[in-house]
Amino acid sequence: MLHSLMSSFPALSGSDELNLVDALDQWSLSNGLIMYPPQFTSHSANAAPVTIFPTPFPESAFKDAFLVQEPFNQLYANVVLKNLLWLLAVLEQLSQSDPDFTGKLFNVYKSAIASNKSGKLTQPVLMGLFRSDYMVDTKGSTPVIKQIEFNTVLISFGALSTKVSQLHSYLNNAGYYQQDTSIPYYNECSIPISDSLQKLSAGLAVAHAHYENAHATSQCAILFLVQENERNIFDQRHLEYALLSEHKIKSVRSTLGQVSSRLITKEDRLYIKATGQEVALVYYRSGYAPADYESDQAATWKARLVLEQSLAIKCPLILVQLAGSKKIQQLLTEPSAIKSRLPDLSTDEHDRLLNTFVAIYPLDDSERGKEAKRLAFESPQDYVLKPQREGGGNNVYKTDIPSFLQKIDEKEWDAYILMELIKPPTFKNKVLRNDQVFNEDIISELGIFGTILFNEDSGKIFSNETAGFLLRSKFEASDEGGVAAGFGCLDSVELYREK
Ligand code: ADP
Ligand code: MG
Repeated sequence: MLHSLMSSFPALSGSDELNLVDALDQWSLSNGLIMYPPQFTSHSANAAPVTIFPTPFPESAFKDAFLVQEPFNQLYANVVLKNLLWLLAVLEQLSQSDPDFTGKLFNVYKSAIASNKSGKLTQPVLMGLFRSDYMVDTKGSTPVIKQIEFNTVLISFGALSTKVSQLHSYLNNAGYYQQDTSIPYYNECSIPISDSLQKLSAGLAVAHAHYENAHATSQCAILFLVQENERNIFDQRHLEYALLSEHKIKSVRSTLGQVSSRLITKEDRLYIKATGQEVALVYYRSGYAPADYESDQAATWKARLVLEQSLAIKCPLILVQLAGSKKIQQLLTEPSAIKSRLPDLSTDEHDRLLNTFVAIYPLDDSERGKEAKRLAFESPQDYVLKPQREGGGNNVYKTDIPSFLQKIDEKEWDAYILMELIKPPTFKNKVLRNDQVFNEDIISELGIFGTILFNEDSGKIFSNETAGFLLRSKFEASDEGGVAAGFGCLDSVELYREK
């Protein structure tokens, strides 16, 4: 039985709260719910910032987010499979408005194709490991999920999400939420545990097995392409440990800058120099932002090309990475965009997808673009302005929008999209960050993970899965929500039913 109404949070005395914080820190350190602090040495990490309690989330909205994941996976695969010319044309335009980054990424894709006589990809099988992010919107009569963005590269927190839901479940079962009775505060089935760690590693293993079968090879590794000084490394390490223990797959880590010294290609196949082990899959946890290429521009961009040209399956291919651009998201919310790309969806499924969209406008010379330019100045408080860049810290919010736009040339405006703001409910949960307990209004963002493996050439989809969830929360007062960037924290859900 779920709570039929949203329950309140446990009320703890000061000493009970201190007890709970100790238990929480110790569980996190024991179980690897950790991150490195900003300046770190390898032996010492901190408990990750988390909420003390799970945050209430409407059950129907939670279920809807799971129901739309496989269609969304398929939608972004179909953008490549069925809409390649359209995608290439959009990316050509985006490259012109952002030549220094989108343009360079797109050039890597074009060079990789051009280097093959066939004019095709060396490896037509592509893997997507996605996360669709939502907030609950409270503008209507019932709370519903609205999509913030669809991420196609550098999907993090799949492992720590499993850990934080296990943490909350532990605190509940061990009696830290309710010390005066033997009955746990939360009913166990109302605080689900995310199976994202297990599902994401299984998704990577499926791509790995596909490569070994298709190319008559064995004992291949997965290459984790990572950032230098990664603070969120334990989220990646848990995936590596699961790959080894559950799937007998070894992984190897390299930054873009280390590719030339650590890897070698022979007849398109990618090998680890030190061991001679073949690489079946390149899993990117780097390469999505300009900073990832800054250590040595020539070497890092060349490394990206070497990987892109290789026979290893890419998670994701540059084309799939770029399909996650905010501009593509905007174009996919246009009328009939979904119907034409997912013609086999039932009306109900189609409507369910459409219902997750809020208005997203281009800032160009089209009719909708002109409307957006008016809205940006007349009612900026209802909008967020987003550039093409991923990874936090780039958006312009509300009343900052007009002065921001005025500062740049109107010709550059079409590199941005204008998105209606979602109005999520707020909760007075408590946040534990670096030994300090904050008791402020928070808002939450739900991410649903998905994996998909498909063949760009034949159009065949080999697998399409939903892969667990993530809840991140942040103080209502802050606009940005990145946990690693320091604005937010990890959370889990307490499902409740509307009256
Ligand atoms: P990034 O690529 O930087 O992750 P996002 O589109 O996810 O960009 O935006 C960053 C953050 O801004 C989100 O995590 C969310 O907290 C907030 N945000 C973005 N779009 C909206 C929106 N339409 N309504 C409310 N908040 C939003
Ligand atoms: Mg985001």
